[in-house]
Amino acid sequence: MSFAPADVNAVPVSAKLVEGGEKSCPSARAEPGALLIGVVGADGIVQPIPTRLEIDAEFVEQASKAGAPEARFRFAGRCVEGKCKQWTGNSCGVIEKVLTGMTEQMVAPAENLPRCAIRGTCRWYSQRGADACRACVYVVTDQSKVADPV
Ligand code: SF4
Repeated sequence: MSFAPADVNAVPVSAKLVEGGEKSCPSARAEPGALLIGVVGADGIVQPIPTRLEIDAEFVEQASKAGAPEARFRFAGRCVEGKCKQWTGNSCGVIEKVLTGMTEQMVAPAENLPRCAIRGTCRWYSQRGADACRACVYVVTDQSKVADPV
């Protein structure tokens, strides 16, 4: 079962990877410089990719031939905080909505923490800890639901 709240959005990702105290967005667009962090399985569950895999323009082009890459893969980029419509002022609203939605729909959190390439800098993990990781595998980013930046 996959869990895709209607307003899971992403923002344009900078080719610049996170540095310093910046956080990673785990639901970013497929753009050159983003990291491929998961593949959506046939069951709708995201299979995390634990190694850092930076995508390039060719990957985006090839993956786009079969439709929105964000419907089949998960990407990470830089959390742009106030430049993202999901930023609430001090946190990301997406993971809060995902966790609320899972509770309402009685979706059981994943049993184990998935291996993850960005946990150390992840915005969602920094915000909600292991609860975010147990929900993450149910999140499918869809291009049609990607919001424009502020
Ligand atoms: S606020 Fe949330 S959705 Fe927006 S860039 Fe940051 S982590 Fe991604």
